[in-house]
Amino acid sequence: MNLTKEQADKFKKLSINSWSELALMIPHAYEDFRLHDKLQIHTSQLIDATVESLYRSANSIQITFYAHNFGHTLTGVLFRPKPYMLHQFQVGERNYFYGMVECKAGQCSITMPRKVTTVGEITPKYKTALRTDVMQRFVQNNLTRENLKAEALDEEMIEEILKLHFPTDAMLKSKELSPKTVYALKYVELFSHMKLLAGTRRYFKALASLPSLVEGGNGNYTEWAATLPFKLTNEQIDTIEEIKKDLTKDVAAKRMVVGDVGSGKTMVILASAVMMFPHRSILMAPTTILANQLFEEALKFIPPSTKEGRHIKIALVTNKTKKIDLSEFDFIIGTHALLYRELPHAELVMVDEQHRFGTQQRNLLEKLVSSGKEKPHYLQFSATPIPRTQAMIETAHIDVSMITSTPFKKDITSRVIHKSDFKDLLQHIKSEVDKNNQVLLVYPLVEQSEVLEYQSITEARSYWEKSFENVYVTHGKDKEKEEVLLQFREKGSILIATTVVEVGISLPRLSTVVIVGAERLGLSTLHQLRGRVSRTGLKGYCFLYTNQNSSDRLEQFVETISGFDIANLDLKFRKSGDLLKGSNQSGNQFKWVDIGEDEEIVQKVKKDLKII
Ligand code: ADP
Ligand code: MG
Repeated sequence: MNLTKEQADKFKKLSINSWSELALMIPHAYEDFRLHDKLQIHTSQLIDATVESLYRSANSIQITFYAHNFGHTLTGVLFRPKPYMLHQFQVGERNYFYGMVECKAGQCSITMPRKVTTVGEITPKYKTALRTDVMQRFVQNNLTRENLKAEALDEEMIEEILKLHFPTDAMLKSKELSPKTVYALKYVELFSHMKLLAGTRRYFKALASLPSLVEGGNGNYTEWAATLPFKLTNEQIDTIEEIKKDLTKDVAAKRMVVGDVGSGKTMVILASAVMMFPHRSILMAPTTILANQLFEEALKFIPPSTKEGRHIKIALVTNKTKKIDLSEFDFIIGTHALLYRELPHAELVMVDEQHRFGTQQRNLLEKLVSSGKEKPHYLQFSATPIPRTQAMIETAHIDVSMITSTPFKKDITSRVIHKSDFKDLLQHIKSEVDKNNQVLLVYPLVEQSEVLEYQSITEARSYWEKSFENVYVTHGKDKEKEEVLLQFREKGSILIATTVVEVGISLPRLSTVVIVGAERLGLSTLHQLRGRVSRTGLKGYCFLYTNQNSSDRLEQFVETISGFDIANLDLKFRKSGDLLKGSNQSGNQFKWVDIGEDEEIVQKVKKDLKII
């Protein structure tokens, strides 16, 4: 897009990047500067009038106009007139004036009239960073079919949206935007959003790719899969196949694998490393515990094979491991400690629980193992389910695979509970602990708070410590939290914590989670917490403790176990504004588009932008 200096300047002031975005800055009102010969009440109208007299009082001015177009007089009223307003009205002069026309008892008046020079048109009014007349002129002169077409917008949509900026009589009369117009606005909004996203995607040559026809050698994960103690689920296989296709391309892959907690993403990670072998893979995880766990799983599920006398050598890197020569290993698993080590080049980079890392950390890892302009294939894994339509939007800048089912049905009973249920809850906890199962109690705060009507960890802990043995306590700022979690995993009965325990560590004996003040948390956070229990098929329980008498949101949450359903519910409630301030996690990114409803438009935009 070639912009003149003036255009570029205006784009900057309006904080926009394209003509499509300009098109989206629609007028908030129209002014009809055409001359009509019929007077309409309650309407702002243009008059062609001679000023007959002027009368000033303390804080207003009254003007008598003879309106030639209507053929009779009108009284003009200016309340609290500013000095500059006065110059517009000279007795005996004939001009065009514009203002709201009203009639009472046969006497018609025009409120706050002002002199106008542009006559004969319907003029849009804008509320933007530019003055409305500057914006008007900018739009009129620049928002052309050609400019919009050059951005590859659909032509029908262009016509529809231009009507808003170049209004017709019909537009003026309609009180609401037509469904067709709203559709066009959604389309253009998505179009510019996805185009911007697509623009951020860079394509790099891959450091190494798999030979495309794989028989036996690289990329053959089926042989490995046959050694597993279980069958991969269809969705795991589909995802692995998608990754396999990525890995055979010359272009470095960029893919996000979204799967609910417990959907078996680790197997996808391991399969990817197996496919990539003998090229090297690196996997980064957000915590030491998680890195350890992944390392152990890798050792367990990728046993040494004697094929061609080689096997995948696996290393673990945390800040506790000594400096070793990593170039001897084929699969390196670690925490962000990796970022401070001498890393050999790696042809595949994976990041687990990617949302726990900053963009900088993720990019740094990719860079550390790249060489020149060539980059490793890159896979990120996320346990935060997103609505399908959102995933489709994301495909503008990253490929997305979704795993929506879990390998075994999780049997978790979820319930909303209140103070009156406490006795039963206690009974339940006792019986779970007796069965050698574990219970997680999530409190909203560490310290006591005046504003919150729930106990904090500090207040609650002594009660639990008195009533039970093996009670462990940790929270986000606790430096020892990883150590506490490890000890709890081995020896604990009850863990008291804040929402820190979000991270994907496996607690096989954990059967129950109680979330105190559940209404304060977003549905996706609740879902993450619930995902801690029943990880390996144990009968699970999730109790949402609340002081609220009723909450539609929580009631609907307990009805479903699918993270993708929860993501859709979250959308629904966010729209209805039921979420408390501050707990809205992602905000609304669109003005017109409704992720819950507009899948078809997303598809059209994808097609028009040629995103496959
Ligand atoms: P997440 O997607 O949360 O990372 P994990 O990969 O940790 O999930 O898997 C959760 C549990 O399910 C693990 O104990 C894992 O061994 C097991 N698992 C993974 N895939 C399968 C499968 N196809 N069949 C049975 N169990 C599986
Ligand atoms: Mg995981």
